[in-house]
Amino acid sequence: MSEPVVGSPRRDIHRVGTEETFAIPELLDAWRGMARSVWASQDLELVRSSGMSYHGQRLIDNLLELGEGRIAKMDEAGIDYAILSLCSPGVQLFDPETASDIAELANDRLAEQVRAYPDRFGGLAVFAPHSEKRGIAEMERAINELGLNGFILNSHTAGHYLDEPQFWGHLEAAEALGVPIYIHPRTLPDAVGGPFAVYHLSRAAWGYAVETATHAFRLIVSGVLDRFPRLQLVLGHMGEGIPFWLYRIDYWNGRHQGRTAPQLELKASEYFKRNFTITISGVYQRSALDLSLAELGDERIMFATDYPYQPMSEAVNFMDAQRDLPQETQERIMFRNAERVFRAPAAG
Ligand code: MN
Repeated sequence: MSEPVVGSPRRDIHRVGTEETFAIPELLDAWRGMARSVWASQDLELVRSSGMSYHGQRLIDNLLELGEGRIAKMDEAGIDYAILSLCSPGVQLFDPETASDIAELANDRLAEQVRAYPDRFGGLAVFAPHSEKRGIAEMERAINELGLNGFILNSHTAGHYLDEPQFWGHLEAAEALGVPIYIHPRTLPDAVGGPFAVYHLSRAAWGYAVETATHAFRLIVSGVLDRFPRLQLVLGHMGEGIPFWLYRIDYWNGRHQGRTAPQLELKASEYFKRNFTITISGVYQRSALDLSLAELGDERIMFATDYPYQPMSEAVNFMDAQRDLPQETQERIMFRNAERVFRAPAAG
């Protein structure tokens, strides 16, 4: 994907990107191996269509580029610090043992980058949600030993969602470790993906938001956030549309609670404002930002670029154009919230 340069970034504000993606060759090789199967997963269709991705070799090269090469692109775009995360769907296509092996390898590689460039890179760890023993052990290792900044999970795992009891140990671990889980998109499960199998509907234009917002909604209305009240979650893509729906969610879930849905301690929207922080990744639309600011306030929105799926410069140019926002709001979105939520190093 080409990286259009539209003017040059303003140099008077610090920028921390919170959805900045990378790959390791071993992960791509393992996906290619699965793509030789007969599994009709829409995740694997992408791999099959051109050896890895319909974006082609340029995307793969950008995903694999870390170190000085990645930093040169950040410098050009004006990104001071990137919280890196392994590309979707991460390790969640694999059986629990393979997923754990690749998660440990990817987290080690990520930690090497953070150690080599501590003022430029942070990282979100992956883990196997479908292995209670190794998954939770890796979560603890990633934070306590590798010093990473949180976790990334690519929505469902084989059609299962974090509100289900087999994942409560992982949620308890994240809450105890005091770091967030970024719930990143992937395609919908095979069982519900049929209507999304046309027009490239399953991916970023629509299906990702449907899938990921559904995941967040399940966490809210299941009551799992009464069980783990300090658990922090992050959603990209301006909250996957949820800020727009809060009134209707409260109206109808309020009527379902205690009848056809669990009785909760709070209104659904109150969990969204207490347990979630959103990022602007890939949504460079002022009206959506204004709505999110009105609903969540400026301490629950973070800057992100979604690089390399979209150019870093699009996110930078969008936020550079919002100089009419209060300076404090700009600083919170661009870096202060990431310092608090992800323990990014304080701006110099
Ligand atoms: Mn992304």
